[in-house]
Amino acid sequence: MASKAWFAFHLTLLAASLIFAGTATAAEPAGTRYYLKGKEISAAQYQAIMLFNESYGTFREGKYEQAAESLRRAVSLNPDMAEARCNLGLVLARLGQVDESIQQLKQCISQFPDRSEAWATLAGVYQGSGQLSEAVAGYREFLRRFPKDEMAGKAACLIKDLEKELGEQASVAKSLKPGEKEDDYFPYTTYNCVTKWPSEKMPLKVFLNEPTAGNFPPNYRLEFGRALKDSFEQWSERSNNKVSFDFVDSAAGADIDCLWTSDITKVTRPSERGEAKIAYSSRGIEHVTIVLLTCAITPDENRLPEHVMHTACLHEIGHALGLMGHSPHPSDVMFCSVPAADQKHQISPADAATLQHLYLSEVLPVYKFHEGQVNPNDKIVLNNEGVDLAQTGDFRRAAEKFEASLKLDQGYGAARNNLGAVLNNVAIQLMESGNWQESESCFKRAMTLQVKESNPAKRASTMRNYSCLLRRLNRPAEATKMETMAQSLVRPPVTSLKPR
Ligand SMILES: [Zn+2]
Repeated sequence: MASKAWFAFHLTLLAASLIFAGTATAAEPAGTRYYLKGKEISAAQYQAIMLFNESYGTFREGKYEQAAESLRRAVSLNPDMAEARCNLGLVLARLGQVDESIQQLKQCISQFPDRSEAWATLAGVYQGSGQLSEAVAGYREFLRRFPKDEMAGKAACLIKDLEKELGEQASVAKSLKPGEKEDDYFPYTTYNCVTKWPSEKMPLKVFLNEPTAGNFPPNYRLEFGRALKDSFEQWSERSNNKVSFDFVDSAAGADIDCLWTSDITKVTRPSERGEAKIAYSSRGIEHVTIVLLTCAITPDENRLPEHVMHTACLHEIGHALGLMGHSPHPSDVMFCSVPAADQKHQISPADAATLQHLYLSEVLPVYKFHEGQVNPNDKIVLNNEGVDLAQTGDFRRAAEKFEASLKLDQGYGAARNNLGAVLNNVAIQLMESGNWQESESCFKRAMTLQVKESNPAKRASTMRNYSCLLRRLNRPAEATKMETMAQSLVRPPVTSLKPR
């Protein structure tokens, strides 16, 4: 059972401050005096706090532009207000203004290196914007400075997950040919295994498990159910008819079942919005349970927006369909983290292309080939399997292997020459069994493949065999022509005929 999920990152929204306004006394006619935690503060400081408090409310309502404006004003009134600068960094990240967000958080850290939340939020923004190395370094620094912080466990967990992602990305990147342009992230998503639903399972039976009124898990909303169903439909649409779903009324017999819960222990790690628990074997995927959390998992989440749940559904369904590993690009729904920007995310062209690639008939399931099993989607492996089969005399199955190898790379000379050679043998077997028509097309294909064969003896052998068939077919003129061609190929070089 493999478990795939989506890492949320850490953002800390600092809570509003309490202000006590004092009353002016006769001795101090300047007006109202303000106190914060028992200390008197200036009017500018007071205004900054009021703006900060205002932004706290607008942020939680998702009004990020408005929150950013209040926080900018607060920071200009009181540049020493760490909370305002930290929250400004967070709001800017939500608005997708990553560079400015990072700049604000760095400034906050340089002014107030003891504010743990600024360090954690900075690492989180790096993570959510796809800068995974910086995120790991950020969480490490956070742990070094604040080992007893309540967020330390989660940071350690994120470091482990992100390092694993980075390690896989690096090893896939290394295996790609220089300059090789990929329209999809197939090598990344299949790093640990290639698995998918067998085509005969389509349409997949999906039990959405929509909670009924009165039985809603805490924080569940009807639009979440709609987001889930819509996400299934979107993947189906973008799969180029490779994947389809049939929604069923019961978990019994369902291929994919879904679980809505606010119980955080139902997912493997505390940083997950959802999780796809995938059971698969060497035949492919056998069953998936998708767990979706209805509760807040980062401190800045108040009312979980529908589009965040929608993206989480798209992501977990992607795993459930066999996109086991993550995309290295933050613009794809199969990126490893919740995006920093609070925007609606859709299946990207690369997401769709990767799913379609996975469901090509020549892509075969591989059960954890990184743990010892060979990868049958590798042209060299397929060629070698063909060679083994040819040596046992199983020319037909050998030919299938070479064909599969060539399908992956039409320019692969070894597989082409080998296919030419075994088709010669297949053609002889067909000729001997009286299947002359099929035998002839086999010889012809073999000769086409052998055009670039560097060993003329092999080409000549195929031609001679074909000429035998032509004689049986009572086409002597063609047979003679073929023999002459074969002879010209293997005629010894003139120099060797020189007498000593
Ligand atoms: Zn995931």
